[in-house]
Amino acid sequence: MFSYRHAFHAGNHADVLKHITLVACLGHLMRKDGRLTLIDTHAGAGSYRLDALAARTSDEAQAGIARLLDWQRAQTQPAGHVPDHPPDALADYLTLLARLNPGAGPASPLRVYPGSPLLMHALMSGPARAAAADRLHLFELHPTDWRALQSLFRRIDAGASVQLAQQDGFERLRALLPPPTTPGGSRRALALVDPSYEIKSDYARVAQALEQALRRFATGVYLVWYPVIARPEAHALPRRLKTLAGHAGRPWLDATLNIGAAPGQTGLSASGMFVINPPHTLAPALQSALARVLRALGRGRGQGFKVVATHA
Ligand code: SAM
Repeated sequence: MFSYRHAFHAGNHADVLKHITLVACLGHLMRKDGRLTLIDTHAGAGSYRLDALAARTSDEAQAGIARLLDWQRAQTQPAGHVPDHPPDALADYLTLLARLNPGAGPASPLRVYPGSPLLMHALMSGPARAAAADRLHLFELHPTDWRALQSLFRRIDAGASVQLAQQDGFERLRALLPPPTTPGGSRRALALVDPSYEIKSDYARVAQALEQALRRFATGVYLVWYPVIARPEAHALPRRLKTLAGHAGRPWLDATLNIGAAPGQTGLSASGMFVINPPHTLAPALQSALARVLRALGRGRGQGFKVVATHA
């Protein structure tokens, strides 16, 4: 069985990139009324306590979301006088985190870092989406995270709009596409594919799953997170995804964030989000959001960000 546990990494720089992108895509898609089918192929536990042992052991959230929030507060507080508002994609993400930490004051540290399932659920269950009746499908294989995910959604009392299964997310993605036609006659879906890449075959499985997904539903919005590491499969993945999108005649966007490495620092410093059929607003939104994120989180040699996209 897998040893990867997202609890050690929740709220790190990779989650910040991934979740800003996810929230920005959903924010755009949710401006239209029609029902959305949301799929999280690799859901994790759904929510993470930042005061738990796992988060405190790794300290990744400290160098990620906690540092970003501290930096953001410093921008908006006394020294500057003029409030410096974060750009929309960053503001939307931070506002959602605050909403999911009820009772926390503006200066208190986050207690809970919401994973992608909780972020998606929070956005689809606002009053503005009630008529759309969006659906969320979550898949998680690890027994511990699966139990945590189940109990989270039991507590939320999410009802039939959320379906969870301890099944292989790569396999299930194909089965859920194309999404059902809404009464208005449209089909809309967003899928997040976020494996841990703990096993080398995950790289090939991502490409295969995306190829099948595009064949079954070419207009879906597909988000793939990938690590930027010195490994041939990791280098090849965004190239393979560009080729797949190109063959399907679909636009894509590739955003990478590298927070750099201070002397003596090890561990992941860079990752990317590859989006097929990105909203047209995503590239400028990420350009300005990631510039700020990098100013907050950048820690040394190699730091930078890049947003590359085809023209729709
Ligand atoms: N998407 C989550 C988020 O952003 O909050 C984090 C997911 S974590 C990076 C990857 C998760 O996928 C792990 O919890 C792991 O147990 C699970 N996993 C690994 N292989 C899987 C598979 N084939 N299908 C479903 N889940 C899988």
